Amino acid sequence: MADRPRLRRITNRLANEYGRPALRPHRAPVDELVLTVLSQNTNDRNRDVAYFRLRDRFPSWDAVREAPFEEIEDAIRPGGLAPTKSVRIRQILEAIGEDDLLWLERAPLDEARAYLCALPGVGRKTAACVLLFSFGRPDVPVDTHVYRVGGRLGLWSEKTPLVKAHDELSRLVGDDGEFAYEAHVLLIRHGRRTCVARAPNCPECPLRRMCPEGRRRLAHA
Ligand code: SF4
Repeated sequence: MADRPRLRRITNRLANEYGRPALRPHRAPVDELVLTVLSQNTNDRNRDVAYFRLRDRFPSWDAVREAPFEEIEDAIRPGGLAPTKSVRIRQILEAIGEDDLLWLERAPLDEARAYLCALPGVGRKTAACVLLFSFGRPDVPVDTHVYRVGGRLGLWSEKTPLVKAHDELSRLVGDDGEFAYEAHVLLIRHGRRTCVARAPNCPECPLRRMCPEGRRRLAHA
C-alpha cells in the first residue's frame, strides 16, 4: 500500500517539473456541479464555451431549472451530448431546489460526499470536484489521467475499481486540501504531458526511478 510520504515525493518532483498549483476555492458549488456535468466527454475549451453560453442565456440557476430542455440543450450544444447533459443539469437543479449548497463547506466530509453522490448522475469524481474546487476540502477527483498515472506508479493496482482509487487517494492526502489539489492537478498534468496513455515518455520522466511501470518499460527498451 502506498504511503503519504511517497505521494509527497511524487508531487514534489512533479511540482519541480510543471510548477506548483495554487488552490483557490471559489465557494460556488452549484456552478461547479453544472460545470462538471458539462465537462463529460469533451475538452476544457468546449466545456467552458457551453458553460458561459448557459450563464449568458439564463439569469439564474432558478431560470435554468424552469427552462424547457430544448432551450438548455441549445445553450450548451458546443459542449457535446447536449440532450443528455440538459436533462442531467435540470434534474440536479430540481433535486437541490433553492439550496445554495454552502453548508457542504462545514458538513462532515462523508456526509457532504454522500449528499452529492445521491444527486442524479453524480458520482465520486463530480462530488470530489465540487468539494475540492469550491471549498478546498480534501477529496481528490480521479479522472482518466489520474487513474492511469496512479496505477502505473503503484498508488493502486491497475485493476482497482475507480471508486477505490478515489478512496485510496483521499486516504493518502488525509485532511490536507492543498495536498489534495496538488495531487489532482499534478497527476493530470503529468498524464497529459509525459505519462500519456499509449507511449509514456519514461526515459525523460522525473518519476522514472520511483515508478514500477517505468522501470519495467525501461528494462525492456
Ligand atoms: S516512469 Fe513512465 S510509466 Fe512511470 S510515471 Fe513516468 S512516464 Fe509514467
